[in-house]
Amino acid sequence: MSKRLLLVGAGHAHLEVIRNLTEEKFSDVEVCLITPSAYQYYSGMFSGYTEGLYDMEDTRVDVEKLAKAAGIHFVKKMARKLLQKQKKLVCTDRSVYPFDVISFDIGSRSLPAELESSVAKTIKPNYEFINQINELRETSHPLLVGGGAAGCELAMSIQTYKRKRNIPGQVRLISADRVLSDAPGRVSRKLRSLLSKKGIQLWEQERAVDVHDEHILTDQGNRIRHTGVLWLGGAVGDPIFESSGISCDERGFAYVRNTLQFENYDFIFGAGDCVTMKEHPQLAKSGVYAVRQGPVLWENLKNYLERDDLQSYEPQNQALYILSTGQQKGFLTYGPITHHSHQAWKLKNKIDTDFMKKYKEVTGD
Ligand SMILES: Cc1cc2nc3c(=O)[nH]c(=O)nc-3n(C[C@H](O)[C@H](O)[C@H](O)COP(=O)(O)OP(=O)(O)OC[C@H]3O[C@@H](n4cnc5c(N)ncnc54)[C@H](O)[C@@H]3O)c2cc1C
Repeated sequence: MSKRLLLVGAGHAHLEVIRNLTEEKFSDVEVCLITPSAYQYYSGMFSGYTEGLYDMEDTRVDVEKLAKAAGIHFVKKMARKLLQKQKKLVCTDRSVYPFDVISFDIGSRSLPAELESSVAKTIKPNYEFINQINELRETSHPLLVGGGAAGCELAMSIQTYKRKRNIPGQVRLISADRVLSDAPGRVSRKLRSLLSKKGIQLWEQERAVDVHDEHILTDQGNRIRHTGVLWLGGAVGDPIFESSGISCDERGFAYVRNTLQFENYDFIFGAGDCVTMKEHPQLAKSGVYAVRQGPVLWENLKNYLERDDLQSYEPQNQALYILSTGQQKGFLTYGPITHHSHQAWKLKNKIDTDFMKKYKEVTGD
């Protein structure tokens, strides 16, 4: 009887696994992709879409078509519970999928559970992005919560969009720490100065604690008025792992070994934001790592199914980041090095469009 491999989520690493399956098949393995949207949206292009440089089709891969090209089943559903002992996955509509091997690449969540009924918007899962940003960028005083790369980049992109179209008002950004707090202090200082030049109103070292319809409340007792809130205040895990009794870090990300296998289960694999590497717990939740894990995940799924030895994924020490700052300029950081120019944006545009081309060539889009 053939074995069944479930791929849960169409994140970056799974895109690479599926692309490989268009060229090479597993023998006697039925593969099934379970994901809630027919499209995978690429966050590297979110800023460009927001500003108006790319259209919606540029930013997404048609995963239903990709799955078809790879000869695998496509199931448009959201996974909810893992019954690891029975080797079954339960979806939100209560349908049950048995498996022999399973792999997760479901990304992260950003909105804390207590804010789910508030007006705060989230762009995770990533198919939420287009609708949320289309609405937010038209309003006069959108407020972004979170001074990490995503919050700073989107603040500048919305501001640029508004300026280009003479939409009155000003983007607001609140950061519980300094902006880009994972980077050295001088990188934060440069970015702070850029945000100020763009006319973005910034609150640093101040935490948003509650969201009301027309203002947010901060830990310093301030009320900051807004016309819409986008919450990018740090990644947390999808509740599926904790609720299934999987070993997780304190934010709910499943622990994996260097082979990308879950801590206590050889037949469960995971990559991207949804997992934390036991040996590298500080690794940023960033697409860079999800992309780099793709080829190792592919090899290891293949080797595991064929009873071969597995490879180890060793993350790079430093990663290159380029934030789009508007008007086709990029803010490049690599450790303590920074560089702000059109050239940096061109490099980002090339990296992002080359990434998408790999998959669009297969889907013919
Ligand atoms: C505005 C913004 C800009 C960013 N820019 C960059 C950048 O330039 N460079 C960079 O390295 N990082 C960037 N990031 C971070 C980056 O988005 C994430 O680190 C990256 O998307 C993680 O990839 P992933 O493969 O883990 O998951 P994702 O890309 O989030 O994909 C998860 C997939 O799983 C599906 N899914 C979700 N839940 C379930 C479920 N329960 N069941 C089944 N399927 C599910 C989703 O629909 C999606 O297909 C940015 C983030 C934001 C918000």
